[in-house]
Amino acid sequence: MGLFEGKKGLVFGIANDKSIAWAITQELAAQGAEIGFTHLPESDPARPKNERKLRKLVEPLGSTFVMPCDVQKEEDIDAVFDAAKEQIGPLDFVVHSIAFATIEDLKGPVYNCSRDGFKLAMDISAFSLIALARRAKDALVPGGNMLAMTYLGGERVIPGYNVMGVCKAALESSIKYLASELGAEKGIRVNGLSAGPVRTLAASAVSDHSLMDKLYSSMAPLRRNITREEVGKAGMFLLSDLASGVTGENVHVDAGFHIMGAPGEDMSEKADE
Ligand code: NAP
Repeated sequence: MGLFEGKKGLVFGIANDKSIAWAITQELAAQGAEIGFTHLPESDPARPKNERKLRKLVEPLGSTFVMPCDVQKEEDIDAVFDAAKEQIGPLDFVVHSIAFATIEDLKGPVYNCSRDGFKLAMDISAFSLIALARRAKDALVPGGNMLAMTYLGGERVIPGYNVMGVCKAALESSIKYLASELGAEKGIRVNGLSAGPVRTLAASAVSDHSLMDKLYSSMAPLRRNITREEVGKAGMFLLSDLASGVTGENVHVDAGFHIMGAPGEDMSEKADE
């Protein structure tokens, strides 16, 4: 029997088969989860490209719950949770895998970020978790949980990450406050998964992947970058009852990169030369 047999949840943030949320979904589905999905509504509703793409991915998993949701719109979020209550029932988990900033504001420096661009990036990338949590607290069963995707740029300065690093810091702090509040009210867990670089649509805006690969192969304790599957498996673990004692945590799935302060070579030997 799978770890998620009889468990149900919602996943926000699959753009395509490269998305981190898709990697997590595949692991959840393999363990028997029943999942509902959302996509960003199309600007032209007559050409539902996002919906078609998402349905093509998730229908082979037996999922029919696919709804539009722009996390900037309260009415969209309400509609998703109302429909989930009716069509799916009480939820065991909610996955938040969403971020956005305009290229102009992302390219930095941070002090040049526009006021409107900052508000937009924060709204979509950080506040949206709070907005989902407000509904999830009633939709989740006691002991249910939420998981949000983050990155080391929220803890340290990562060149190129700029305003998204500021958003991730807000997201990571929100995870802790929400974990405390929802844990006390209903035993609900809230965690963050801090993934190493994964080639996705969103990542193409912030990182040069071949440079990242080189950096990880020389600096990370495992001397390599992580795989999409490793992120998927760790996400599935955090969402499962195996992690029932873990909350308010920021779990790094980054081949250990975050612990290093310098390249993996022994610098003292270099200094002696
Ligand atoms: P992705 O496949 O592009 O996923 C990002 C998702 O956010 C897309 O589905 C996008 O929809 C959605 N989105 C953007 N604005 C939205 C809005 N207003 N309402 C609803 N959905 C919206 O990229 P990803 O890399 O998997 O990103 C998922 C999460 O992982 C993000 O939080 C990201 O910061 C985080 N993360 C990524 C990496 C990495 O290296 N890839 C590393 C660490 C953390 P559309 O595509 O339709 O616009």
